[in-house]
Amino acid sequence: MPSLNEVPIQFLKGVGPARAILFENMGVRTVEDLLYLFPRRYEDRRQLTPINAIKPGEEQTVSGAVLDKSGRRRFFNKKHIFEVDIGDETGRIHCVWFNQPYLDNYFHVGDRVVLHGRVNVFKDQLQIVAPEYEIISKEDAGLSTGRIVPIYPLTKGMGQRYLRKLMAYALQHHAAGMTEVVPADILFRQHLKPIGKSIAQLHFPDDVGIQAEAIKRISFEEFFFFQVCVILRRMNMIRKKGFAHKIAPDMEVHFAGLFPFELTDAQKNVIVEIKNDMIAPRPMLRLLQGDVGCGKTVVSLFGCVAAFINGKQSAIMAPTEILAEQHFKTLLQYLSKSSFGKMRVALLNSSIKKKDREELYKAIADGEVDVVVGTHALIEEGVSFKNLTYAVIDEQHKFGVKQRALLTSKGLNPDVLVMTATPIPRTLCLTLYGDLDVSVITEKPKGRGQIKTYHFIGEQADGVYKRVAEWVVDKKTQAYIVYPLIEESEKLDLKAAADMYAHFKENEFKDLRIGLIHGRLSREEARQTMNKFQKHELDILVTTTVLEVGIDVPNANVMVIEHAERFGLSQLHQLRGRIGRSGKNAVCILLGDPQTSEGQKRIEALVKTTNGFTIAEQDLEIRGPGQYFGRHQHGLNELKVVNPLTQIDVLEAARKEASILLKDDATLVRHKLVKETILRRYPEYLQRVLAG
Ligand code: ADP
Ligand code: MG
Repeated sequence: MPSLNEVPIQFLKGVGPARAILFENMGVRTVEDLLYLFPRRYEDRRQLTPINAIKPGEEQTVSGAVLDKSGRRRFFNKKHIFEVDIGDETGRIHCVWFNQPYLDNYFHVGDRVVLHGRVNVFKDQLQIVAPEYEIISKEDAGLSTGRIVPIYPLTKGMGQRYLRKLMAYALQHHAAGMTEVVPADILFRQHLKPIGKSIAQLHFPDDVGIQAEAIKRISFEEFFFFQVCVILRRMNMIRKKGFAHKIAPDMEVHFAGLFPFELTDAQKNVIVEIKNDMIAPRPMLRLLQGDVGCGKTVVSLFGCVAAFINGKQSAIMAPTEILAEQHFKTLLQYLSKSSFGKMRVALLNSSIKKKDREELYKAIADGEVDVVVGTHALIEEGVSFKNLTYAVIDEQHKFGVKQRALLTSKGLNPDVLVMTATPIPRTLCLTLYGDLDVSVITEKPKGRGQIKTYHFIGEQADGVYKRVAEWVVDKKTQAYIVYPLIEESEKLDLKAAADMYAHFKENEFKDLRIGLIHGRLSREEARQTMNKFQKHELDILVTTTVLEVGIDVPNANVMVIEHAERFGLSQLHQLRGRIGRSGKNAVCILLGDPQTSEGQKRIEALVKTTNGFTIAEQDLEIRGPGQYFGRHQHGLNELKVVNPLTQIDVLEAARKEASILLKDDATLVRHKLVKETILRRYPEYLQRVLAG
């Protein structure tokens, strides 16, 4: 019998070619993929709350019959509003959806429905705005009612009930045949249940306790393979031989003299760490963590100078063109006329013209350029260095391990510094980045202003933009207004950046200079607007999250984030890091009404602290470590019932088992299935290490 990862989903009963395409869109190609498509959340439909017992203010699952419905367009703002009244023997609840007129064809008076959403009270009546909904019929009994019911991530054209039925069928016929990929002795020691049973319970849990065990089992498996990868990478790296740079004992003193400011103690410490690594004959692989603006880039330049003195080349890779350009400017400013001699610096990005690019390629290959800064363009095939011995990768989380490997392959085991402004909680660092050495910059340069953060809901938000306009004028500062999406989405009903930009120009900011950046602009347009903002030719920048990484405009000290509840915690922190970069105080205003307690917690955390590490710890507590992991873990991570704190224990257990296994069998010759599973599930992590 072929194993499940070889059985195309299309061969499953109930899936034809058309549905197979829908599944493909969801990343599901095989029966195994399907079994690993985890529910997004669950609804406990064993005993539904009678309507008269519903407590407002909480997310709840409610069931009843459709008593009444109506759809109309509002006169004043043209919004379509669709309303349904649901009732059971005990009471009635009112539901409203905006801009979803098609719902009129979905609901019929008399239908039995299950709804899920946050209940509130409006005009003395229980109400849910835009709940998730499902019509239930008798034949659904067993899968969609009377049990803990899985709610799956869907794609257009696929319904919950269909997917549940298919999943149940797949489990019935294939769960027992799933291959056990974790070695038996480990399963035994860790008291883990068979994989098939656990997967079945993850989809259709019999009760909450068994469900928790199933989640633990699947998490363990994910973590275990990840850990094996991390440890293997480390072992592989330690064996390599790199270039031993010659660095004078007092070089860091001269280096510090390049800057018009005093380096912080934290910066100096990290420079010494980098120096020692670069002197050593084995390649450096160091992760430099530090909040936005704490001075990582400045520190990273040390290696460029060290390589240069040794007659070698260095490279800095940034995730966006704007950032690459910013780094390039920094290099020109500090290094091109340094006391160390004239360093030749070049910028390589994908908008560079073909002819110029070829010339640059040649110059890099001939060693006529000392430092190359660029985007992904750096790892393209045509780029080859004469003698690259030092590489910096900025904003690690934007690049995968694969890109890191591609860049290093351009040199002979160069020293690598990976920088991230999204700090990883201490508890997790070893486990996640066990293959890297870690440096941390905790203090910010002296003389930075404070950032005050506020959260406003509903009416409190009125007048915010008028205040922003006043600040901008009175304090001669600049402001960012950030949106999560670029166009009005009917479904989400968000005020989108483009619309609001048009609105602002006529209203609150009509006397100010205002610009717009979003993901659909051409690079050139985005760059021009950004440059204008940088030169203070614009007062206000309305933007989507393209702003996220690295932009440095010290005079911008005000930020408003719309629909803050829709952003992740570390993303919010990153965004906020764009302000407060000068000596002046800064203000960040979060707007939006979080519908979940998680959203609430994220916003509270942000209001309370500006410390990136504290925020990372909070994020870990809210979301768990799954966010950092591989393919399957993604699904687990979305799961609200996963307890992040127990997951950390599981993670540690997995790490322990992985290291025991590798200590004994470093090449996995005696664990063929482990090796195979890694190559299949995490090929990007280990292609090199496990080759052969
Ligand atoms: P990061 O890369 O961590 O975001 P940067 O290295 O870009 O931080 O530094 C942010 C800003 O602070 C830059 O304008 C830089 O010139 C400045 N800076 C860096 N180190 C110091 C320091 N020790 N004192 C004062 N300003 C500094
Ligand atoms: Mg070295």
